[in-house]
Amino acid sequence: MLAIVGLLLGILPLVSGSAKCRCQPSDACWPSEQDWNALNDSIHGHLVRVRPIGHVCHEPFYNRTSCNERVRLQTDSNWRAAQPGALQSFNWENWPQRHESCTIEAKPNSTCEQGRIPWYSAVVHSVDEIQEAVRFAKKRNIRLVIKNTGHDSSGRSGAPYSLQILTNRLNNITFHNNFVASRAPSRVNAPTTTRVPAVTIGAGVMVGELYAAAASRGYIVVAGECTTVGVAGGYLQGGGVSTVLSPMYGLAADHVLELEVVTAQGDLIITNDYQHRDLFWALRGGGGGTYGIVTRATMRAFPDMPSVISTISFTATQADDIFWQTVTQVVELTRSLSVNGNSGQYIIGRLSNSHWFVNWTMFVLNETDSKSVDGKVAPFLSLLNWFGIHYQYRSTEYPKVSTFLAIPKQADIGGVGYLQSSKVVSESFMGSIGGASRLVASLSELSLDPGALVTVNVLGGQVNVNTSGVCTSVHPNWRSSALLVVLMQSFPPTSQAQAAAHEKLTQINTPVLTLIDPGSAGVYFNEADPEQGHFQAAFWGRHYERLRRIKDQWDMDGVFMVRNGVGSEDWDVESLCRRNATVWSSTSNCRADALPS
Ligand SMILES: Cc1cc2nc3c(=O)[nH]c(=O)nc-3n(C[C@H](O)[C@H](O)[C@H](O)COP(=O)(O)OP(=O)(O)OC[C@H]3O[C@@H](n4cnc5c(N)ncnc54)[C@H](O)[C@@H]3O)c2cc1C
Repeated sequence: MLAIVGLLLGILPLVSGSAKCRCQPSDACWPSEQDWNALNDSIHGHLVRVRPIGHVCHEPFYNRTSCNERVRLQTDSNWRAAQPGALQSFNWENWPQRHESCTIEAKPNSTCEQGRIPWYSAVVHSVDEIQEAVRFAKKRNIRLVIKNTGHDSSGRSGAPYSLQILTNRLNNITFHNNFVASRAPSRVNAPTTTRVPAVTIGAGVMVGELYAAAASRGYIVVAGECTTVGVAGGYLQGGGVSTVLSPMYGLAADHVLELEVVTAQGDLIITNDYQHRDLFWALRGGGGGTYGIVTRATMRAFPDMPSVISTISFTATQADDIFWQTVTQVVELTRSLSVNGNSGQYIIGRLSNSHWFVNWTMFVLNETDSKSVDGKVAPFLSLLNWFGIHYQYRSTEYPKVSTFLAIPKQADIGGVGYLQSSKVVSESFMGSIGGASRLVASLSELSLDPGALVTVNVLGGQVNVNTSGVCTSVHPNWRSSALLVVLMQSFPPTSQAQAAAHEKLTQINTPVLTLIDPGSAGVYFNEADPEQGHFQAAFWGRHYERLRRIKDQWDMDGVFMVRNGVGSEDWDVESLCRRNATVWSSTSNCRADALPS
C-alpha cells in the first residue's frame, strides 16, 4: 500500500528493487530476456551473458578441452584483459562474503559461482554502444562497471549483479604533430597545451601498444610500467606514474590535453581547458569509474631520447642489519643520482624460498655513455664487496629510451592473487637529516611474506614543478613528493590465503606505510589498500570536497561508483545499496581556471 502511495506521489523510483538498492537478478525489476535482447540489438549484437572464465571446468558446462585451454591461458594478462569473465587477479573475481568463487581447474563435480563477475557485458566496439549501455543501466537501475584491463587492485573493474562495459576493443591510436584542443582560442600566445605533438588513444589502448606506436614515430609518452595496464582508464584518471619519465615530465594526468567522455546521462562530450573544465579537472586524478566513461584521451607526446639504464641486484638469506644497511645505501645512491629528471626504482622483496632480494634500476636520461654511471655506482659496489654480498651489475646504453619502454615487463603475468598498499613520501622527509635511515627503518617493520614486493619509485622533479600551471585533482601532496612506496603482496589461490593476506595488509602493513613520513598524508588511489581508512583524505586531501561537488553535479544518481571512489561513502562496499548521505567540508585551492602557461 505504502509503495502504491509512494508511486502515486512520485517519490519512489519506478524500477528499483528496493527504494535504496539497484536491481538485482532476484528482483522483479531485473530486466527480462526480452529487455536484454533489446539492449543487444541496440549495440549491434555485442552483448554477452557472462560467466566466470573457469565455468567450463565445472558442470553443467564442463568441457575437458576448453578447461585445459583456460588452465593454459589463465596467466596470460593480455587474454585476461580481453575476457568479460575475468579480472587480472582472481581474488576480485571471487565474492568471499558470499563464499562464491569459480576455480580454473578441472573439478566437474564442484560448483562454479558467479562471484563478482558481471552478469552481462557490452563488449563495445564504438562510442554509441557505450552510450546505449549507460542509458540502459541508468534507466533500469542496474549496477554498471567499466572494465578496461581489469588490473585495479581494489577490484573496481568488477561488481556483483552488474552490467559491464568492456572497453578493450577500443584501441585506435592517432598521432598529431600540432594538436589544438577543441574550442581553444586561436591567438598566437595560447597556452603551450595547444599546438604540441600529441597522441589520441581509444579507451582500450594498453601501455605496451602505446609505447610501441609512439616509438615507431620517434615519440615517448608518460605511461606506466606494466605492458597490459590500460592508459586512458584507471591509470590516467588516478594520476598515472611513469617509473622512467615522471621525474622528467610529471604525472600522466599532467599531460592530458583533452578527454572525450560519455556522461551518466549517456551524452557524449569533450572536456579540456576550454569546456567542461570542472569535469576535466576531476577526471585527471579523481579516479576511474567515477565521473563518466572516457572514450578517448589526448595526451602530449615528447621526443624520444637516449638513456643509460643501470641495474644492480643482490640477494640475502635473511633481512639482518647488514641487509638493511645496504638498503639504506641504495636509497642514498638513488637520491644522489636522481637529478635533472633522472629516475630510479628499487624493489625489495622475498623469494618463494624466503630469501630476500634487492633490484635497483637507475634511468639516466639524455645520456649515451654508461661509463658516466659506472663511476658513480663504484663506491656502492665496493661496499657490497666489503660485506661479501654477491651482486649483478649491468649498465645498458639505449640510443632510444622508447626501446626499453616497449620491452614487456615481468609484472605482465595474470591470474595471481595480489593486493597493494602505498604511500607518497615527501621531499621534506627524505631531505631531512636521517631521512633515508628512517625510511628504511619503517620498511624493515613491514611483515613481508614470500612473494611480497616493496617497490619504491622516484617522484619529485617535474611532478613537484607541475604545481602552478597544471591543475589536476590528485592529492596536493604529490606536488611536494620524493618517493612513491608501493607494497604488493601476492598469495596462492585459496580463500584462506586471500583472507589472511587482506588481514595482514590492513592490520599490519598499511599502518606501517602510513607511519612513514607521518606528517604528510598521501596514498595512491590506484595502488591502495582496498580497506584504506579515511580514504577521502588519504587519496585527495583538500581536493575532496570539490571532487564530491563535481560528482554530484555530473552523476547525481551514482551511475558510476567504485570502491573508495568519490561519493562512495553514500553506498555499501559493492555500491549495490545506498546508505545515508554524508556531508563534506574541506577546501580546495586549486582553481580550474589556472591554465597551463
Ligand atoms: C602489475 C601492475 C603494474 C602497475 N604499474 C603501474 C605504473 O607503472 N604506474 C601507475 O601509475 N600505476 C600502475 N599500476 C596501477 C594501475 O594504474 C591501476 O591498476 C589502474 O587502475 C589500471 O587501470 P586499467 O584501466 O588498466 O584497469 P581496470 O581495472 O580495467 O580499471 C581501473 C578502474 O578504472 C575504471 N575505468 C577503466 N576504464 C575506464 C574508462 N575508459 N573511463 C572511466 N573509468 C574507467 C574502472 O572502472 C576501474 O574503476 C600497476 C598495476 C599493476 C597490477
